[in-house]
Amino acid sequence: MSIVSVQHLSKHFERNNAALDDVNFSVQSGEMIALIGASGSGKSTLLRHLSGLLESDSNALTSVDVCGETIQSGGKVSSQARHIRRKVGVVFQQFNLVPRLSVLTNVLLGNLGAMPYWLAALGFFTKPQKQLAMQALGRVGIKDKALSRGADLSGGQQQRAAIARALVQNAEVIAADEPIASLDPSAARRVMDVLKELNKNDGITVLVSLHQVEYALSYCARTIAMRDGRIVYDGDSNSLTPDFLAELYGDESEDLLLPSLTKPKNELARPAVWSNSFSSNQGTLSSGRESRLSETTLPA
Ligand code: ADP
Ligand code: MG
Repeated sequence: MSIVSVQHLSKHFERNNAALDDVNFSVQSGEMIALIGASGSGKSTLLRHLSGLLESDSNALTSVDVCGETIQSGGKVSSQARHIRRKVGVVFQQFNLVPRLSVLTNVLLGNLGAMPYWLAALGFFTKPQKQLAMQALGRVGIKDKALSRGADLSGGQQQRAAIARALVQNAEVIAADEPIASLDPSAARRVMDVLKELNKNDGITVLVSLHQVEYALSYCARTIAMRDGRIVYDGDSNSLTPDFLAELYGDESEDLLLPSLTKPKNELARPAVWSNSFSSNQGTLSSGRESRLSETTLPA
């Protein structure tokens, strides 16, 4: 069953500049998908449409469906968005927590959509709600930080607290926008491990944008790559080639990719599944999903 479906999604912030240009894809329940692409390629804009935080261009063919409900269509966010949004846990790169509130309270805010706002604003949470929040903190490995202030957590702990809040929210989908961009490698791995665990054990569907391609390759079976607001690759992460990635990131590639990805010293350095060009990989995905790669971006 597809849990996220995006049809003909375009977004212009400015007249002649498409931040999203006819984006189409769907996500099956239980998938963990990496969204990659250079800065400005449209990753954040796309993720923000999924939770109805942004409204698309007006187009009768456009629809964004989440968990079987239409959160926006034709350029209008649904009047039911608040209710539908509860099923999508959003994790940002930064500023996920209210700094002066305790970590526990921050996680309890995951209940916001399910209770009267004034009750939550006054901090009236029930004992079962608090127990669930503590459990969620345990799942992400920071139970001992429950009473610390949000501001006093490390970057990686803040991200894990945001994931705990998504758990309390009972999210079926987690949309994480560069959740590890400002973390050191070991903190980044811990955050990715938590996402992977929730994906595997709880069946939570994860869509995560990543600047560091090596994490996409090691954590996500499927990668969607964007350039200039368009999807230029959607398929098996193992079939991404160094040439394609270097081209996708252009000038940024030197900083962002593992040296072994950008400049394979010899054929042995590449995983066996990589071939010299994408064209030979098309249609060979084990999942049966079709790999799509726009003509214009085929590496020479
Ligand atoms: P990414 O997350 O891949 O770095 P974004 O989705 O942030 O890319 O941006 C895609 C394009 O949309 C960029 O050209 C960016 O400048 C533009 N953009 C994003 N948000 C806004 C905004 N609020 N107002 C105007 N332009 C925006
Ligand atoms: Mg972004």
